[in-house]
Amino acid sequence: MDTKTIIKIVNEHNHGVYQKKVCLDGSVTLQQDEVEVPCDSLGSLVNLESLNLSFNQIYTLPDTICSLQNLKVLKADHNNMEDIPMCIGQLHHLVKLYLEYNKLKYFNIKCSSLGHLEILVLNNNPISSLPDEIRNMIHLHELDVSSCDLHNIPKSICYCPNLETVNLSNNQLSVLPVEIGRLPSLKNLQLNNNKLQYLPSTLKVDKYDSISVSGNPFLLEDILIEVYTPNNLFPSLLEKALRFVCNHGNYKIDILPQTLQDILTEIKTCTGCGQICFTYYKSTIELQQTTQGTIPFFSQICSPHNTQMCNQT
Ligand SMILES: [Zn+2]
Repeated sequence: MDTKTIIKIVNEHNHGVYQKKVCLDGSVTLQQDEVEVPCDSLGSLVNLESLNLSFNQIYTLPDTICSLQNLKVLKADHNNMEDIPMCIGQLHHLVKLYLEYNKLKYFNIKCSSLGHLEILVLNNNPISSLPDEIRNMIHLHELDVSSCDLHNIPKSICYCPNLETVNLSNNQLSVLPVEIGRLPSLKNLQLNNNKLQYLPSTLKVDKYDSISVSGNPFLLEDILIEVYTPNNLFPSLLEKALRFVCNHGNYKIDILPQTLQDILTEIKTCTGCGQICFTYYKSTIELQQTTQGTIPFFSQICSPHNTQMCNQT
């Protein structure tokens, strides 16, 4: 977008019902729902709360957009953007961000200041990964990354306590983090058309308001993947030491012996008790009947005891 481009700004308070006046630099009051503003004036709209740039031919957003510190809603979907300014991550009051149907390969903005974001829509972009910092979006309740190019999703997504709706359909996902089943607010989960051979046993498929899993190459038989020290009833000292380091260690990983460093990079989570584990006891895939049909579930248990007991050891 060059500086002469005219952009269209739409007020969308209360589902399109015009309620609040938008002020241009505090001096000019707009009286209508739609206005046209030269792009180079964008940064002066410091009181703007909602900006709609949808269905344009925008290749990149101007950095001046980051001056809009009162912006709550940004819609820039259906454009040609290959990247977005990093400073979007500094729009502290942003609640809704719509970037679907662009050409974004990355969503690598710093999310640390997007603590108020509730809705993030990124579908239909060739995005291959999401940042770990997504965990800072503690108010996020809807995430749509369907029809992207995701090969995995970060474990940190599972630290978004208000996440209710997650759409991961039409990606390249072959595995889900076991922690996804521990999202306390999750109600709607779409997983269609991925490369999932199994789901983590933490996902209680029948408890969600809606879930869909079709179009995945699910395994058709039970599989015992790995059994570690089958005669040992308790976690090894190594296991205990590693858990202690992770739970209590305020450490820098490079001061640890290489052996420990190697193991620590492979942290797993017990699907029974939720504890971190390393040399877990047993790892299986078992078919279960659900409302969605027969689904193979992956579990890794940190103890030979049953799942209720494994956090006692
Ligand atoms: Zn356990």
